[in-house]
Amino acid sequence: MTRPAKRPTSLPLAAWDHAYLWHPFTQMQEWEEETPLIIERGRGAYLIDTDGRRYLDGTSSVWVNLHGHRHPQLDRALTAQLRQIAHSTFLGLTNPPAIRLARELIRLAPKGLRRVFYSDNGSTAVEVALKMAVQYWQQIHPSAGPKQSFVHLKMAYHGDTIGSVSVGNIDLFHARFKPLLFPTHQVEPPYCYRCPLGRTYPACEMACIEPLDTLLKTRHRDLAGVIVEPLVQAAAGMLVAPPGYLARVRALCTKYNVLLIADEVATGFGRTGKMFACQHEGVTPDLMAISKGLTGGYMPLAATLTTEAIYRAFLGRYDEWKTFFHGHSYTGNPLGCAVALANLDIFRRQGTIRQVRTKSRLLTRLLTPLAGLAHVGDIRQCGFMVGIELVQDREAKTPYPLERRIGHRVAQACRVRGLLLRPLGNVIALVPPLSISPRELTTMVAIVHEAIRETTEAPASSL
Ligand SMILES: *Cc1c(COP(=O)(O)O)cnc(C)c1O
Repeated sequence: MTRPAKRPTSLPLAAWDHAYLWHPFTQMQEWEEETPLIIERGRGAYLIDTDGRRYLDGTSSVWVNLHGHRHPQLDRALTAQLRQIAHSTFLGLTNPPAIRLARELIRLAPKGLRRVFYSDNGSTAVEVALKMAVQYWQQIHPSAGPKQSFVHLKMAYHGDTIGSVSVGNIDLFHARFKPLLFPTHQVEPPYCYRCPLGRTYPACEMACIEPLDTLLKTRHRDLAGVIVEPLVQAAAGMLVAPPGYLARVRALCTKYNVLLIADEVATGFGRTGKMFACQHEGVTPDLMAISKGLTGGYMPLAATLTTEAIYRAFLGRYDEWKTFFHGHSYTGNPLGCAVALANLDIFRRQGTIRQVRTKSRLLTRLLTPLAGLAHVGDIRQCGFMVGIELVQDREAKTPYPLERRIGHRVAQACRVRGLLLRPLGNVIALVPPLSISPRELTTMVAIVHEAIRETTEAPASSL
């Protein structure tokens, strides 16, 4: 779809974008042929482009925004911090917003997590967790064999840096970088719609946990940790694990003395209807990575939370070399921490979690009719994370070939109707801001319904 730039302001910008930029996860040849959508402003659940067109932000700007754009309290927190200082280093110094935020995070985190290590994006938060796990085992059992490999799920996504790609498994993104990755152990994911074991839930009694049990039983001496996206494997297509799966993983990790790393980068901060997804099953991981929603979608900030036991294994005289030698230029950034504190304050004052639960039930009802569409195979939902898997044939669950770009085409059909989405292959992902109103939710689902019907039920000649 082409979008002629009308206003003189967007004309040079579009040309300069094409001349100078390289966008993430984007085929730039295609990008260069299209007029880019240039977002200039935002308000609540809406994004506004340079031509003044308004779009519902159906992905929360790819899973980061919580309370809407231009939230007055978040805006104020940022400008107030700017009057103090924008940034000072966290190496050998500290600052008030970072201290206060750590205390708040520990108050809200699953019980037992006691220490906060800051970084600046989800991938680095995962890298930090992996490095902490390996170094922890070296220091706790210096004479034992190395406990340094990791278990992760197939189709996992933990970020784009080399360590986080190593524990990821989405072929389209990761296969090329194989030569750079460290070896890992992989187990099948709890993907009930396409069960890798060919079983059916709940009759299966969660048989997919058994390969993990076997692996831990035989290899635990070499294993540093198991990393999971709790409850929802988001980038894989919003795969929602059956209830109790996470608690089973936790129990196995405890039994075999392997650390559990929870990557809450996507699921954290109310997305699933609890502050953190682990809290649905009363699970405390040994390490927890958070980022996306941490600042309500305002600033790049991340953290890795861990237990006092792990933290204490890094204490010693300087020349015992137990220091965690890791850090980033913008660690503990005061602007990010100040806006994150305001973000958490909004949760408290506005009862955000309670609202998400109520609106999630509305969302479930709104989505129900979509299950009747000829090419909707599966609708998965966990709070405000939704995946609608489109299939060529419903009976046989035949996937659309990726080159058909069915998800992309549905997203394009949504765009002309005023809704912005970012599909995950053949899965239409809906991840609205937690603050979206019931009316806006209704509009969003109505647009998606129409767009799916138009795109998948069009006469074959136009495909
Ligand atoms: C987005 C995401 C990451 C990576 O975060 P970035 O900030 O993009 O580096 C890691 N894990 C999960 C589960 C994510 O959804």
